[in-house]
Amino acid sequence: MHAVTEPRETLLAALKAALPDGILLSAENDIERYTHDWSGDHFGTPLAVVRPRSVDEVSLIMRCCSANNIPVVPQGGLTGLVGAAVAAPGGGEVVISLERLNKLRSISAIDFAMVVEAGCVLEEAKRHAEAEDCILPITFGAQGSCRVGGNVATNAGGFNVLRYGMTRDLVLGLEVVLADGRVWNGLKLLRKDNRGYDLKQLFIGSEGTLGIVTAVSLKLFPKPTQVETALVGLGSVEDAMALYARARRECSDLLTAFELILRGGIDIALGARPGLRDPLSEVCPVYVLIEASAGGRVDLRAILQDFLMSADDLIIDGVVAASRAQGDQLWLLRELMVEAQGRGGRYLRTDVSVPISMLAGFVEDTLSALLKSHPHALAVTYGHVGDGNIHLNVVPPVGMDADEIATLFHETEDVIFDIVDRYGGSLSAEHGIGRVKQEAFLKRIDEVSLDLAGRIKDAIDPKDIMSRGRIFLPRSYILEAGER
Ligand SMILES: Cc1cc2nc3c(=O)[nH]c(=O)nc-3n(C[C@H](O)[C@H](O)[C@H](O)COP(=O)(O)OP(=O)(O)OC[C@H]3O[C@@H](n4cnc5c(N)ncnc54)[C@H](O)[C@@H]3O)c2cc1C
Repeated sequence: MHAVTEPRETLLAALKAALPDGILLSAENDIERYTHDWSGDHFGTPLAVVRPRSVDEVSLIMRCCSANNIPVVPQGGLTGLVGAAVAAPGGGEVVISLERLNKLRSISAIDFAMVVEAGCVLEEAKRHAEAEDCILPITFGAQGSCRVGGNVATNAGGFNVLRYGMTRDLVLGLEVVLADGRVWNGLKLLRKDNRGYDLKQLFIGSEGTLGIVTAVSLKLFPKPTQVETALVGLGSVEDAMALYARARRECSDLLTAFELILRGGIDIALGARPGLRDPLSEVCPVYVLIEASAGGRVDLRAILQDFLMSADDLIIDGVVAASRAQGDQLWLLRELMVEAQGRGGRYLRTDVSVPISMLAGFVEDTLSALLKSHPHALAVTYGHVGDGNIHLNVVPPVGMDADEIATLFHETEDVIFDIVDRYGGSLSAEHGIGRVKQEAFLKRIDEVSLDLAGRIKDAIDPKDIMSRGRIFLPRSYILEAGER
């Protein structure tokens, strides 16, 4: 019932006839850059790529696709990395790139809010906020490429979640084009509004399966006048988590980041940039990058330094950046490690979370299980541990062939996710489910959640044309399985 039955040329002709000039691309060369994601690990060939310039054009595209049963996939900056934003295999989907819908619609330093279109690159949105002496606190490595609509669709987090929350906590309202082309205008600047269901929450984190986000109103915060960064070395993850518990209280809740990096990650960063020096004089098993920020009459440096001195029972060695430039050098280690961890090849990415109080035990158990089961693979461990979020990535040994790598990824992912289950954690704290984590997710979801999610999807997208087969199986497959 939901399958694309018309031949490719007929569907393309229907799109061309319905859409204004200048928004549809179908030639192989023109669509190449929309066919693969940031990592290069996930790709797919779309039927066509459309690049709307206005909400009306998005609405027109959806009316046409709905009438012709053409499945679509919204695309932001392609940094999601779970195979959700690229077209499905088979060439039947239309990619809707939001890249030209990228304007700032309004900003108010009094409301501490901005309304920005979904295709605006996150870094650009952050610049708009800074021009008003404010910050948009969503901050992470991909901010120069990802787009605000993608951040909403994945409920992105980042370094500053422990202070400001996830994207969900920062969204005041949304404008969304639905599968049938109707525009839901839920753009608000209100901090408080208890009129019935909070519909925007359905779309946040829905990975494009319920609608196309076209604009977002976001909370802003006063721009801090002081930012202090420190890197400390410790003996264990347990000590790092003990330091975190103390830091939350003793730094007056002014922490904005608390990033854990195991020594292997520091080695990767140093190897990636010849000439970069080991940041501390002592080599430690575990490092934590700490950032605190404040405005007003607070002596932030004194607060951070006093705190670090008071924690000398945990800290082996450490450095507080003397300037912003030195702080940036410390953050560079974190960035280089992420870029270089796969040695240029494929590696297993995970982005799991467990309760903060259990993180140290979880890391210890998982690393020892991986060492036992797959001693030749390299486990790279780092994360936003202030949120209980950790990346346990697995890099294959040099020279391993593609089939063996696939088996390694499958087996090590099972090892990691089984331990996540034991700790009551989540197999996706950041990137979402997409296609890549679907099997593991569906293996674990309870019946009631699956039923409710299916009913929501059916109600909002009855033809299952929005990001079909992401997060959940295609509806046609589920209905057919039910009839058998
Ligand atoms: C180096 C690096 C570091 C990262 N660090 C973090 C991190 O710290 N925290 C974190 O949470 N994530 C992180 N990510 C993941 C990623 O950057 C986020 O998931 C980001 O929010 C994706 O945005 P995007 O614009 O690239 O979306 P895409 O990858 O283009 O799309 C992601 C999903 O959103 C959907 N989508 C995109 N735009 C829209 C729209 N307008 N309407 C509806 N659906 C839409 C797509 O269909 C897809 O399902 C990182 C990624 C990289 C490469």
